Amino acid sequence: RRPFPSVCKILWLNPCKFSFFRVMIEENYTKERKIPMSDCIFCKIIAGEIPSATIYENDEFKVILDRFPSGEGHALILPKNHVPNVFEIDPAQAGRAYALAAKLARAMKEVLGFTDMNILQNNGPIAGQTVFHFHIHLIPRREGDGINVTWTPTEPTDEQIAAVQAKLTNLI
Ligand code: AMP
Ligand code: ZN
Repeated sequence: RRPFPSVCKILWLNPCKFSFFRVMIEENYTKERKIPMSDCIFCKIIAGEIPSATIYENDEFKVILDRFPSGEGHALILPKNHVPNVFEIDPAQAGRAYALAAKLARAMKEVLGFTDMNILQNNGPIAGQTVFHFHIHLIPRREGDGINVTWTPTEPTDEQIAAVQAKLTNLI
């Protein structure tokens, strides 16, 4: 999400550092980021309005057990601020979330005795997201667990691969 609408950008550039508008905009922006979304189930869990089985918490993240798990130990890493998906999360925060995933994965493996794990994260309804508050799934995997995280491989030509590569190279 862009921090300010463009009309506000002009005001933001106002040379008067302590202008009334600038203070107002700054306050609204901060409020918007801090106030939980009233209809977001994960914001309610983070606010303590809905119970959850919390397994880890720090200033920035809460980690809970999924209420409808794929199996034993299926956990969710939730940022405490409301951010809907990977397209909007601060990349640095996404990095911290994945660092936490890596730490938890090995600790959980020791305790629960599973061997493998899927770490996945859905963005948008087509991708299977049902709760629109960014979260990382930690899904323990065991032999014969019946969990299915697959797709049917396609077979593009080398030219088709090159065309996609041309579109996507040096984007960032
Ligand atoms: P996703 O489909 O990637 O958006 O994942 C949402 C996950 O949230 C699902 O795996 C649900 O089982 C889980 N979930 C839904 N409601 C709750 C809840 N109240 N507490 C814990 N997990 C939940
Ligand atoms: Zn939320």
